[in-house]
Amino acid sequence: MVAPHTRPAPAARPIPDAGAAGPLLDDRHLAFAGEIGAFAERELAPRPAPADDAAARHEARALLARLGAGGWLDPILAQDWRACCLAREALAAASPLADAVFALQALGVVPMLLADNAAVRDRWVADVVAGRALAAFAMTESEAGSDIAAMATTATRDGPHYVLNGVKTYISNAGIADFYTVFASTDPAARGRGISCFVVPADSPGLRFVRPQVLSEPHPLGEIAFEDCRVPGSSRLGEEGGGFALGLKTLDRLRSTVGAAACGMAARALAEALAHARARRQFGKPLAQFQLVQEKLARMATDLAAARLLVYRAAWEADRGAPRVTLEAAMAKAFATEAAQRIVDDAVQVLGGAGVMASHPVDRLYRAVRALRIYEGTTEIQHLVIADRLLHDDASGA
Ligand SMILES: Cc1cc2nc3c(=O)[nH]c(=O)nc-3n(C[C@H](O)[C@H](O)[C@H](O)COP(=O)(O)OP(=O)(O)OC[C@H]3O[C@@H](n4cnc5c(N)ncnc54)[C@H](O)[C@@H]3O)c2cc1C
Repeated sequence: MVAPHTRPAPAARPIPDAGAAGPLLDDRHLAFAGEIGAFAERELAPRPAPADDAAARHEARALLARLGAGGWLDPILAQDWRACCLAREALAAASPLADAVFALQALGVVPMLLADNAAVRDRWVADVVAGRALAAFAMTESEAGSDIAAMATTATRDGPHYVLNGVKTYISNAGIADFYTVFASTDPAARGRGISCFVVPADSPGLRFVRPQVLSEPHPLGEIAFEDCRVPGSSRLGEEGGGFALGLKTLDRLRSTVGAAACGMAARALAEALAHARARRQFGKPLAQFQLVQEKLARMATDLAAARLLVYRAAWEADRGAPRVTLEAAMAKAFATEAAQRIVDDAVQVLGGAGVMASHPVDRLYRAVRALRIYEGTTEIQHLVIADRLLHDDASGA
């Protein structure tokens, strides 16, 4: 089932708006921003929005093939975080599902790029960026959400193998992924220091798709179970017990890209609000001439500009090889996703009744933007991370 075609965004500033990130981008980024923005607008925005979970699962694979064939996933392999941010801004503005596909390819493969395991990299990385293999990242459990170290999934050594047991929940691409980058405890008593990371092909005996978990904005999510799932020791990424640190290092790099996706959704919502405010007349004049509406538009644009600067600062720090970007990435994710929520909500308000029609892009954005404040660490957890850095690293000049 598919919903009516999403109409293209009204003409406004380009998305991504590379100019808004100014000196934080290199010339190659400016060119890339134009190219991927045009691709997303031309090829993704007009695609029918999936109307239900089954359609989203089908569409995710179609979008993967499109992204891979066009080379749009290459910035992940290059670990060019500013380009990844530009990609997510463009994709999220045109198709939240295409953005989710990009995000999961990155989450699945970045631990491989960061860890020293050539065999696993050789098996998966090229297929991931070419769009031939769909990735998933399996960390969360029912009793281990924000408190990742509480995970109960175990990986027990058995000669040259590990045997995995446990259930992972809220896993994007569950049931359609070709492989899962999985976090499991090799030493439960050690909590965080006892977690290791494994790459598990989806067809491994003992790995089972349990059930889909259906979101209001269709996105393939679900539960998977490991039942005496035997994987070779060579599928472990990094040291035994190093999985927690590897997971956090991955999230440090990718949280700015979540902020970028938020900026893309917010930019699209702002464009819709501006177009509507100019066109819609009430009390004998366009909404745009009412100062209360202008105030809303001004706040939306200012929030978006500030969010973009935090996002591209965090990505620039990572690109220049800063040893740690935890603080910058947490600020970028928390601020940009919270700002985007406000901006999208204001856009709905400016549109009035039209803004809550299921077929309207801002209604879809309203549903899609919400999850960004939750996944890859909630806003509250980002605030705890920021406070921890401030209190323990004397990072007050950040
Ligand atoms: C659309 C979507 C896709 C996802 N995809 C994936 C995926 O692919 N892989 C994966 O592993 N996970 C995925 N997740 C899971 C996601 O990372 C978790 O939902 C998230 O980490 C929060 O965990 P939780 O839902 O258990 O909430 P909880 O941890 O139970 O938190 C509930 C609330 O309590 C607050 N809270 C918790 N602890 C504290 C504290 N110490 N101080 C203050 N407040 C606190 C939280 O901020 C939140 O507001 C996805 C989630 C969603 C919604």
